[in-house]
Amino acid sequence: MAGSDVKGVRRARPSYPRCFGARCAPALASLAVSGAAIAAEPPAQAREYDLLISGGRVIDPANGRDGILDVAVRRGRIARVAVDIDPARARAVVDASGLIVAPGFVDIHTHVFFGTTDGTYLHNTYEALAPDSFAPRSCTTTVVDAGSSGWRDVALFKAQTIAHSKTRVLAFLNIVGGGMRGGRAEQDLGDMDAARTAAAARAHGDEVVGVKVAHYAGPAWDPVLRAVEAARASGGRVMVDLGHHVPELSLRELLLTHLRPGDIFTHVYADIPGRTTVVDESGRVRPYVLEAARRGVVFDLGHGAGSFVFDQAVPALAQGLLPDAISTDMRLKSLNGAMGDMVNVVSKMLNLGMSLPDLVRRSTAAPAAIIGRPELGTLGEGAAADVAVLRLDTGRYGYVDTRGARIDGDRRIECAMTVRDGRVLWDRDGLNARRYVPR
Ligand SMILES: [Zn+2]
Repeated sequence: MAGSDVKGVRRARPSYPRCFGARCAPALASLAVSGAAIAAEPPAQAREYDLLISGGRVIDPANGRDGILDVAVRRGRIARVAVDIDPARARAVVDASGLIVAPGFVDIHTHVFFGTTDGTYLHNTYEALAPDSFAPRSCTTTVVDAGSSGWRDVALFKAQTIAHSKTRVLAFLNIVGGGMRGGRAEQDLGDMDAARTAAAARAHGDEVVGVKVAHYAGPAWDPVLRAVEAARASGGRVMVDLGHHVPELSLRELLLTHLRPGDIFTHVYADIPGRTTVVDESGRVRPYVLEAARRGVVFDLGHGAGSFVFDQAVPALAQGLLPDAISTDMRLKSLNGAMGDMVNVVSKMLNLGMSLPDLVRRSTAAPAAIIGRPELGTLGEGAAADVAVLRLDTGRYGYVDTRGARIDGDRRIECAMTVRDGRVLWDRDGLNARRYVPR
């Protein structure tokens, strides 16, 4: 096909040093012996794009795109998405033929705040991961911390992690002022202040997208009610991890009475003692769960280290209860377990029967909309150039749930390259590197 000729030319070009503008002169002089190569090099001023990702299958649900297209990036933004953009107009060309080009993943459930090291933030300190340690290598460009910090320590979180990460980091504030410190600190209703949480959410509006409830084990709805109050006052969403409660709290009441349309129920396919499951003992999705989904309650995957079981996921998918957002619940315990990383979770859902375009939507545009950031998760012209280049491999693979059950699969998605704001953060196959030529 015609594309392979073009591909050949593109592959040949990077065999001499990359250099732009004035810095090119010495390198080009050294190449004077190779007249043909110089003739192939376009004048610098014609190269209006910083990066061209060409020939990949672009899946961009926010813009209704699914086809072989080129994506041009300029000054950190998507400049153009079209068929056959001239590679001579780009300073760097990535040949993505045979690969999938999608918006960078938006993972709305992660834990990336370490807290202090004085012993008062034990849960966070031992569970948090630096965003750049896992996100770029799994094609994730935005992570949302799910309640590791609260109003008391969000400024520390910002200074410690958000400001220093190449990955974009957003946050749900914990309704607990001291955040996710573990133990009794998370049971203290006296530290769950809606007004202060709302004030902090507004003060840090660039990063904070909502309010999280988690780990409270008492019989009261107060944490949820206060989180909703804080979210209402600050314009964000509530994310609830309904865990173990004594006595058990009613899932029906949470989904149909307390959560507003747009609020998020995470760990949808968990089967945790002391929390009602979405699928009942006979394998049927509880009717009120489907009713809540119709009401607009959002169901977040939140895989984690103990919150994804096939006994829930398989019947739920068959009966139409799909995850509105694919997310990892990334932390130290889930990283090396059944969860692994974002591309593994997406691959698992692919092998459970979800389609690739639908999975891309639920990992990009859908979560971006859920957190009120529709400018993310899109390859729309003018948007931040957050791009995932994915490889769909076929072979023999296994996927495991958090109870140690395995399904066999024949497809796996790998992250080949990750671009955030136009910068390449991950490039496993050296797609953006020059070809090595032995001296
Ligand atoms: Zn979590």
